[in-house]
Amino acid sequence: MYDLILKNARIPQGDDTVVTNILVKDGKISGFTQELDGIEAKEVMDVEGHLTLPGCIDSHVHINDPGFTHRENFLTGTSAAASGGITTVIDMPCCSVPSVRSVEQLENKLNAIKDKAIVDYAMWGGVTGEDVREGWLHNVKEQADYGVVAFKVYMTPSVPTYPRVTDPEMLEAFKAVAETGLPIGIHAENFDMCDFYVKKFEEEGRMDGPAWAEARMPLAEKVAIELGISFAEATGARLHIVHMSTGIGAKLVGEAKKRGLDVTAETCPHYLTLNYKDAMSKFKQFAKIAPPLRTEKDNEELWEGLQNGSVDFIATDHAPYEIATEKDAEGMNIWTAFPGIPGVETMVPIIISEGYNKGRLSLSRLVEVLSTSPAKHYGLYPKKGAMFIGSDADFTVIDLDKEWTIDKDKMYTKSKYTPFHGYKLKGKPVKTIVRGKLVYDDENGIVGQEGYGEFIKRQSIQKLDKAIKY
Ligand SMILES: [Zn+2]
Repeated sequence: MYDLILKNARIPQGDDTVVTNILVKDGKISGFTQELDGIEAKEVMDVEGHLTLPGCIDSHVHINDPGFTHRENFLTGTSAAASGGITTVIDMPCCSVPSVRSVEQLENKLNAIKDKAIVDYAMWGGVTGEDVREGWLHNVKEQADYGVVAFKVYMTPSVPTYPRVTDPEMLEAFKAVAETGLPIGIHAENFDMCDFYVKKFEEEGRMDGPAWAEARMPLAEKVAIELGISFAEATGARLHIVHMSTGIGAKLVGEAKKRGLDVTAETCPHYLTLNYKDAMSKFKQFAKIAPPLRTEKDNEELWEGLQNGSVDFIATDHAPYEIATEKDAEGMNIWTAFPGIPGVETMVPIIISEGYNKGRLSLSRLVEVLSTSPAKHYGLYPKKGAMFIGSDADFTVIDLDKEWTIDKDKMYTKSKYTPFHGYKLKGKPVKTIVRGKLVYDDENGIVGQEGYGEFIKRQSIQKLDKAIKY
């Protein structure tokens, strides 16, 4: 007796598909069959030949719980994830009180969120300039042993409780993380350049939206990535560029891979589809993020990088802020509004619509960038990111033909704004299944239970294939 038969699932086989029935028991995939005669299950769910992917992963979210729950909490954040076809989120260490830089702080956070999550979650570990200065780097190994999947450092300031690193502090952090074998993700923007040009533009009286992107220029990302690559080469650390926004970044990461270095990168849906002039003129601070939106040329170069493997996978940098106090308070302007946008619920549909349906990504590459590659990179594979017998029964079911328009007011995130408001898409996740349980359905909305989502510790240490397919 099985728990679930997922009937008529169209599953990927390389760049092709096959329609089959997936058998689920105890939250795991226990078989595939073309013949259902004589097979019994407590539940049969017919997905009518829709494309069924291994559960999609957003490996870069800031859910802000505990401490900043006026922006988002683990219930609203993971509901947003479920509605966007995401079955596992990986949460950043910086946006909670306290921030997560030790096992004690990590356990504090896990305790605060354990009864809220709808989907599964893994955790980034933290290391900051303060940890280097205070001699707290022993916390790196302790967090790694506990099961975090990677470590995050900021070259530019983010939240006051998570201090940025200076260049030598970043080198010390690289050395400590290299010993764990885990990736070190860097927010790659040169601090002095961003600081200098933001102040200069502000003093010159620029108050238009695009001014933010012109002040935090692509060159600030380029030199930061170059420094990160140099440090990775010197220390053997596995460098990961989070939310990479520029075409030149894709080129640098691709070249580093060809030299045999363990350098990886993610980009986000907004860097693939929006350009700063249009989106920041229209949405102003509601399109303000760091690093900023770039140009149409960057969009296309990042798509190319994603298909050829110099960019490894997609994540969102989901970072909602409260509109009334942090985005659009009285007197707030492009310089004083907080940088960050929600994204966890729009990632999969945008990549399906603008990537796969428009021919920019093959089916096999689509599966990698949304699921398999982040699962491998963060040591969750093949529990997550795979459709093997024994893998968790996490599925994202997609209606490839459904045409719809993103509407900020219909989003599940607590902070209802997005520079994708009004964006027309073809393709939508219609069912999200976590360990054999339906958590989101296009007709009924969120049907998952609060607290169903589990904390997933890193299972293994796995590296991505460095081969670039040109
Ligand atoms: Zn982020």
